[in-house]
Amino acid sequence: MSDHEPSFSARTTALDWCRRLPKVELHLHIEGGIPIPALWQLVQKYGGDPIVPNEDALRDYFQFRDFPHFIELWIWKNKFLREYEDFSFFSAAVAEALKSENIRYVEAFFSPGRFKQEGLETGRLLESIRAGLDSVQGIEVALIPDLVRDLGPDVAAEVAELRALGVIGIGLGGSEHNHPPENFTEVYRRARELDLKTTVHAGEAAGADSVRSAIDALEVDRIGHGTRAIEDPALMQRLAESQLPVEMCPLSNVATGVVPSIADHPVRQFFDQGLMVSINSVDPAMFGHSLSQDYAALMSDISFIPEEVRALILNGIESSWLDHARKSALEAEFVGEVIWNEDPV
Ligand SMILES: [Zn+2]
Repeated sequence: MSDHEPSFSARTTALDWCRRLPKVELHLHIEGGIPIPALWQLVQKYGGDPIVPNEDALRDYFQFRDFPHFIELWIWKNKFLREYEDFSFFSAAVAEALKSENIRYVEAFFSPGRFKQEGLETGRLLESIRAGLDSVQGIEVALIPDLVRDLGPDVAAEVAELRALGVIGIGLGGSEHNHPPENFTEVYRRARELDLKTTVHAGEAAGADSVRSAIDALEVDRIGHGTRAIEDPALMQRLAESQLPVEMCPLSNVATGVVPSIADHPVRQFFDQGLMVSINSVDPAMFGHSLSQDYAALMSDISFIPEEVRALILNGIESSWLDHARKSALEAEFVGEVIWNEDPV
C-alpha cells in the first residue's frame, strides 16, 4: 500500500466505515490474534527475551522476510504460552479485540499439537480457551483445531477425541510447501466420518496443484487462502462452478510475501469470476493489521465498492459452518443495519 494509496482522509473514512460494519471472520488463528499488549504481558511473565526489550520492539519484531520466517516467529511466540491460564487470558483479549471492530461471529483455529509436545493436554487447553472466549459478551467464537502439517499425519485418533470436545471441524496449516494434502487423506476421511467440517490451507505457500489436491484428495468443505489457484484457469472455473468457499486473506498474503502488494492480489479476479470468496485477517496481531483494514485496502487499492464489500461479508456468513437457520438470522441482522446507507468515502 504505497503508491496507489489514495489521500489519507479517504482511507481513514473508508477504514472507519469498514470498522463499523458488522462482520464475520472464518480464518483467524487465535494464537496469531493475541493483541501485542497481552502478548507483552506473557513475555514478561516468563522472564522476557533480549531480542524484544520492550513492547514496541515486540511489535516491530513481527516483520516477515518470507513464509518460513513467519513460521519461525510463530514458534518463537508460542514459547510464552505455557500455562492453561495463559490460554484463558489471551483468548479473552483476542475476543475483545475482534469485538471492538464489530466482528460478531468467528470460526477460529487453534493449534493444540505444538502445545501437546510441551505437555499441555488438548482437552484442558480447549477448556481454557473456551473460558476466555466465553467471558466476553457480544461475540461468538467457534473453534477449529489446526492439525499442523509439520507434525505429521498420525493424528486421526486425536480427531475423534476433539469431536467430543465440541469443536466444529478441522483445519490443516503449517508448511504447505513441505507437506502436500495427500499425506492427510486418511485424517480427513475420518473427520468426515465423525461429521466434522473440514478446511485446509492450500494455494498459499504452494501452487494451484495444492488446491486441486485439497479438493480431490481431502474433499474439503472450504479452502484456506486459495490465492495461487489464480495460476490455473481451469481450477478457477471449477471453483466458480462448485461454489466451494475460499477463505481469502489479502493483507496476510502481503505480509508473508505470497503477493507483493494488494494491487497484485487476485481477490478481484476471484470475486469477478463468481467464486464464493470471503475476506479474513488470519493473524491480525502478528501482522499488525485488522479485518477492517483488509476491507479498507480492497476499497482503496483495488476499487471494491460498498455493495461489493457487503457481498463479501454476506459470503462470509454463507461460507460459515453455522446451520441454515443461524445463517439466515445473521444475514437478516447484518443487512438490516443502517450503516449500509452511509457513503464511506
Ligand atoms: Zn491460516
